[in-house]
Amino acid sequence: MKPMDRSYKHRDLFDAGVRALQGFGVVGEAYRCPICCSDYDARAIKKDAAIDYRLTLEHAPPASVGGKVVALTCKKCNNELGSKLDSQISAREQFFRFIDPNRPDPKPFPGKITLSEDPTITTNIQISGKIGSKINVRAGKNNKPSHLSGTREKIAEIYLSQRSFNGKISVPTYDKKRAKLAFLKNAFLCLFAKFGYTYALSQPARYIVQGFLEESDFDVVMLQPIDGYENSILVNEKTGVCFVGFGEFLLVCPWVNASVPKYAEACKNPDSFLGKYDTLYPFEMPIKLEAILDNRLIKKV
Ligand SMILES: [Zn+2]
Repeated sequence: MKPMDRSYKHRDLFDAGVRALQGFGVVGEAYRCPICCSDYDARAIKKDAAIDYRLTLEHAPPASVGGKVVALTCKKCNNELGSKLDSQISAREQFFRFIDPNRPDPKPFPGKITLSEDPTITTNIQISGKIGSKINVRAGKNNKPSHLSGTREKIAEIYLSQRSFNGKISVPTYDKKRAKLAFLKNAFLCLFAKFGYTYALSQPARYIVQGFLEESDFDVVMLQPIDGYENSILVNEKTGVCFVGFGEFLLVCPWVNASVPKYAEACKNPDSFLGKYDTLYPFEMPIKLEAILDNRLIKKV
């Protein structure tokens, strides 16, 4: 019996990638991981694929913030960048949910409560709610039973005596640099999903891939979104820049015809990109499967 594909989605993305790569003169059945450029044959999408020879579904933005599958990447790229970079997009979302009244409440997160009594007792807690509204705390699972009962007794005592007590709560944190590089990676994947290897193998695209792989000090530029294009890809061939909308901001990437040194220089002055999206290829995300991995640039609409 022939080994089964992992899913229809794996098969569709794989086939589209193979066709797109053949458009570049690559002979045979190969799918190229858009990030590390390693080639894989159909064994990589089978249920029995070897653990180090596997193509995986990649979400952009990450599934944890509601992203959809846009491409296949190799397991190594998916895992390594997922834990190093994408995790910081989730952590950033958690932080903004804690401070922003217009976002849903964050998931409960860990903190500590220290009673400034004698003896001082610190208890691990789970915090839910957000700044500016009601915050609930409950005892975490990782407490010594003696601390827990000690804290309970102390709180009861303080409550009955109507005194106040001091407690500390932590705020969710995230790594800003990694979160920005994570958005750059996700923008790259959206551009790959839309424009295929025409984008992914271009020199400007390899420049940004190197940037997020090496975690270099890269000026990632994020602009205010334009009304109606919050979740779109916009391209300006004249200036060699493109914009990927992630709702709350547009991320600026180099287009395929960009001069890398000029783009890098322009990123030092984000205002230089304002108003440069006059030639638009609006494209709503999440990306439709049938539009994925076209090996030609789409016509101007
Ligand atoms: Zn890879």
